[in-house]
Amino acid sequence: MQIAHNLTKTENRVLSLLVNDARMPVSKISREIGVSRASVNRAIYSLLKKGYIKRFTVELGESAQDTKVFVKTTKKPEGVEHYELLDGSYLAVLRVTSLQQLKNELDAIQAVCEVMIAKTHFPSVKQTVFVVLCDKCGKPIQGDALIVKRGRKTLYACCETCKEELQKK
Ligand SMILES: [Zn+2]
Repeated sequence: MQIAHNLTKTENRVLSLLVNDARMPVSKISREIGVSRASVNRAIYSLLKKGYIKRFTVELGESAQDTKVFVKTTKKPEGVEHYELLDGSYLAVLRVTSLQQLKNELDAIQAVCEVMIAKTHFPSVKQTVFVVLCDKCGKPIQGDALIVKRGRKTLYACCETCKEELQKK
């Protein structure tokens, strides 16, 4: 288990178990590694504070649909999408579908400073503006178009003059 170098033995073992089963109850972890529940809780709290299990159990453990994970590191990550930041560190962008995959990906990244797990993605919304052009003069129609029915065709006019012209044909 090479996920972290600044963890205690208990934290490491708790993390290992949670990585394999994010929903493992504290009582079971306690039995598995032979420490008290209080110690497990302390370890989990510490892991949360250190950012290692920020939202693992909530977002990744339950809805494992291609979660985006941002990993800040001081060493250039190899083989993954990343940015070099102005402060000289790097931000790797991972897409993972399971805790196991996240663990594997994190194992491959050296000098991890911070792991940020995306919860909800809000893409930028660009409004689509539909412009209707006048069928007579070709200018964009401001406001409501004047409608001219010709057979089964519907024509749009920008003004009364264009509308009359369209009706003549
Ligand atoms: Zn017109």
